[in-house]
Amino acid sequence: MKFDFSLLPNLTKGEITQLHQDHSIENIFIDSRNIVVSYKNIFIAIEGERHDGHQFIKELYSKGIRNFIIEKDVNYIEFAEANFFKVESSIQASQQIAGKNRAKFKGTLIGITGSNGKTIVKEWLAKLIESVYSVYRSPRSYNSQVGVPLSLWHINDYQDYAIIEAGISQMHEMEKLEAIIKPNIGIYTNLGTAHDEGFPSLEEKAHQKARLFKDSKTIIFCKDFPEISNALHNLPNLEDKEFIGWSFEDNTSNYFVETEERENGIAIRIPYKEEFFIFTVPFKDYASLENITHCLLLLLHEGVPIKIIQNTLNEIRPLKMRLETKKGKNNTYLVDDSYNNDLVGLDTALHFFAQQKQYQKRVLILSDLLQTGLSGDILYKQLAERIENENIDQLIGIGSEIQQLKSFYHGKIELFNSTNEFLDYEQTHQFHNSVILIKGARKFGFEAIVQRLEQKIHGTVLEIDLNKITHNLNFYRSRLKPNVKTMVMVKAFAYGSSSHEIANWLEFHNVDYLAVAYADEGVILRQHGIKLPIMVMNPDPRSFELLHHYNLEPEIYSFSLLNDYVNYTRSFDYKAKIHLKLDTGMHRLGFEPFEIEDLIPILKKNPHIHVSSIFSHLAASDEASHNGFSAQQAMFFKKAADDIISYIGYKPILHLLNSSGISRFPDYQFDMVRLGVGLYGIDTTGLHPGELLPVSTLKTVISQVKHIKKGDTIGYSRKGLAIEDMKIATISIGYADGFNRKFSQGVGMVKINGKLAPVIGNVCMDMTMVDVSEIDCAAGDEVIVFGDEPNITKMAKSIDTIPYEILTNVSERVKRVFYTE
Ligand SMILES: *Cc1c(COP(=O)(O)O)cnc(C)c1O
Repeated sequence: MKFDFSLLPNLTKGEITQLHQDHSIENIFIDSRNIVVSYKNIFIAIEGERHDGHQFIKELYSKGIRNFIIEKDVNYIEFAEANFFKVESSIQASQQIAGKNRAKFKGTLIGITGSNGKTIVKEWLAKLIESVYSVYRSPRSYNSQVGVPLSLWHINDYQDYAIIEAGISQMHEMEKLEAIIKPNIGIYTNLGTAHDEGFPSLEEKAHQKARLFKDSKTIIFCKDFPEISNALHNLPNLEDKEFIGWSFEDNTSNYFVETEERENGIAIRIPYKEEFFIFTVPFKDYASLENITHCLLLLLHEGVPIKIIQNTLNEIRPLKMRLETKKGKNNTYLVDDSYNNDLVGLDTALHFFAQQKQYQKRVLILSDLLQTGLSGDILYKQLAERIENENIDQLIGIGSEIQQLKSFYHGKIELFNSTNEFLDYEQTHQFHNSVILIKGARKFGFEAIVQRLEQKIHGTVLEIDLNKITHNLNFYRSRLKPNVKTMVMVKAFAYGSSSHEIANWLEFHNVDYLAVAYADEGVILRQHGIKLPIMVMNPDPRSFELLHHYNLEPEIYSFSLLNDYVNYTRSFDYKAKIHLKLDTGMHRLGFEPFEIEDLIPILKKNPHIHVSSIFSHLAASDEASHNGFSAQQAMFFKKAADDIISYIGYKPILHLLNSSGISRFPDYQFDMVRLGVGLYGIDTTGLHPGELLPVSTLKTVISQVKHIKKGDTIGYSRKGLAIEDMKIATISIGYADGFNRKFSQGVGMVKINGKLAPVIGNVCMDMTMVDVSEIDCAAGDEVIVFGDEPNITKMAKSIDTIPYEILTNVSERVKRVFYTE
């Protein structure tokens, strides 16, 4: 969509408060970090609970942004060359503007909502429809109050279909989205059972989501979720609606869907209009089958030819639609997005890419764009402009179409006709010390490039879902009083997850402070471009040099450490920041209450030392039986801190609570909290069932499957005994990877193809044998060691330890992969 700035009053209510020069606007942005500098772009400043977009106007103006939508007046003289449009609510304004673009769209709009699978259904549908029609789909999971307007904005007139996802987290949000999305056809994917803070009940949640389809003519849903069925049947104008409510369970249903295992996948049999259609899909898990059934019914409804559907189905992959980052060979870092490739998808990948600061050199490997409806020269001109804003050092283009870039792109570019041609070249021209974005349409098979560039360690990986980190972070933030800051503990490789990637993500999400245990952990963060203030909890005097060099702030817990640091920093021409640790009952590190008296004169005598914060740590914040003790600690803390403050004459940040403290003691939040294990989805209080999401999944593979005769023994010391004839699998993980030896002999379980397999015999150093007598599996199959299930908390209990130990024990030789949807 395009509009002239001066015409904004026609699109939504508001007032032009300054017009310097009219511009034709082509792109809207709400995240100041993602903005592409051009006078054709507009920045919408939103004042949220934690972010205020208006704060960034100055910076954006200095970069060259000239169009702004604002909610409050700014110093117009300071921004004399910019245009400003003032509205009451920026979110509402962006919704209305984008709604206008939707209203113009003459094609069919498919709206998708539900608890899980929205993005997958959207991507698959797009893929399946694309072979016949021109399709637009919202980028990634732009499905919120803010994301949907951005999605609608980009729909083009020439497209036949637009697929838009909508997600809500609170009552009455869907009405607003419905008003602008206005889906012709709806898909209601499913309904999670998790308790949801924003809704009084599961039924109500189902109703709220159903409102997206208030005026839709056709609605596809799985009626095995009774709440969904009910909610849809309570919509207005039922007589105008066609319901396609299918079922895996109810054989009396008009749309009773059956599945059957075949050699090359699963056959799905779908009744439609008194006929049956059978499709084969290359996966077996329930979630994928549910998602694909929604898609298939929609395609049948829209009359897409069966043959084309089946052909495209063969290309569909279960999970490949996420952005992954992982280590590559020769000190490189890969951002892998090899699922699709069009301009909007590229945009989101480039945004994510821009956040990766591991290495300065940036390489972009790109295939032909599969964009329907635009002629090649327009498309590649747009692409060139887009990339030129991104500080790319080396651009690799692969495919016959992308050759056209040569006439438009001014930077360094190397072109190849095929993926294989590039792979040959790579053998003699390897990348070093770079961040590499690999983005290609499926048919180019960029997986082969990723495989080639990846650092190969062994088959065990720890996968970290960055979106779940955000979810957990926001969960804890929502429990904080206004203005309470968040420090995140990323010690011990961020509880085993690998610290700088997590820190990078946290910096992006505006946490206030990071903390590590040792100076070298802080150094690693700085070397990877982390700018946030960092507290070091165990600063040995031998590490002062590093602290100074890398701008790290020590925790000071004893007189000897304080004196050493005072002396070390005496000649500095700036104030040396410290964090004072008080021991209020934990008896680990810190000044005890009776020592405060002697501490104060030292601080007063040394004004070059600045106390940035004062803190203490609760010894038993997760146990109700020690509430009295925790209260006493809080009291000691407050008293000692007040004493210090009254003498030094300024107020440092006070902080006491760790994760379980945040859950249990809202009154002790002081100025900041220290979030640790909760960020990784572990609830040590048991107070938030279903509300925190486990962030990491430890996966390995089956190396071999064996059939064992009754009476034979398995593994070292012959500890495993086959009581019957049995089938076992040897999996590639052992105690050296962090799979504790105490999981031996049936104590531990892993999950293979959806079923639990107990450990048989003793866990070995690099391998473990599990009982798969009841499980259909083969060498190469994936094994889940922990994740949603088996769950870390239960595993820890079974070997009498705490989840912290399971997490932090995952060895460094296990590769970490980070992803975001
Ligand atoms: C590790 C640590 C935390 C975080 O504790 P969690 O229980 O993981 O939330 C907080 N404060 C200090 C001093 C710590 O060492």
